[in-house]
Amino acid sequence: MGDERERSLISKGSPCNINYFDNTLLTLQQAVERGEEYCPNLDRCMEDDNLCALLLGNQVAKLVVEGKDLKEAMKDFESFKYIDNSFWNSIDGKEFKVMQGKQEMIRAVEGFARVILLMNPFESVYNLCEKCGGVRLVETVYDSIHDGPFPLSGSGKTIARDVEYCPKCDPKPRGGILKQDPSEAKERKFLRKLSEDE
Ligand SMILES: [Zn+2]
Repeated sequence: MGDERERSLISKGSPCNINYFDNTLLTLQQAVERGEEYCPNLDRCMEDDNLCALLLGNQVAKLVVEGKDLKEAMKDFESFKYIDNSFWNSIDGKEFKVMQGKQEMIRAVEGFARVILLMNPFESVYNLCEKCGGVRLVETVYDSIHDGPFPLSGSGKTIARDVEYCPKCDPKPRGGILKQDPSEAKERKFLRKLSEDE
């Protein structure tokens, strides 16, 4: 990696008056000397109700300078309450457009966090969907085990598993009902194999 930004420039700054797209800007001192560089979209943004992916990306970048890794910070961001709301985004700090959609917001927020952190904004901590190019999300689903003699009876244990999917192209993953605990089934298979080998 090349240059790094001083942590305080990220933790104390805001994209409303600091131009993080300028990758020659590395320290808080430089920012103070240059004076405030207002976001060219500021006036329009103040007039409407759209969120701003740059402000949200700045929040994510702040978590990263506090020690979280980007993937964890993005995972936290996925539970953001207003993730389906429309938002402003820009990839160069000059042209701004309104976008909407969970995958779009995640991609935009990660992209700008990467701009702030001087990481490649075209890379991603997410796998991208081959069909639509959107981020593939991971959903934890719970299978319940009904291994008793009657329907819906049994241990009542649940097993969590992570399923990766594209919210646009794939159905939302759901847990199911298992007739037996897969770990126990595996154990039985193993024991059977052992006895066969004898
Ligand atoms: Zn897709």
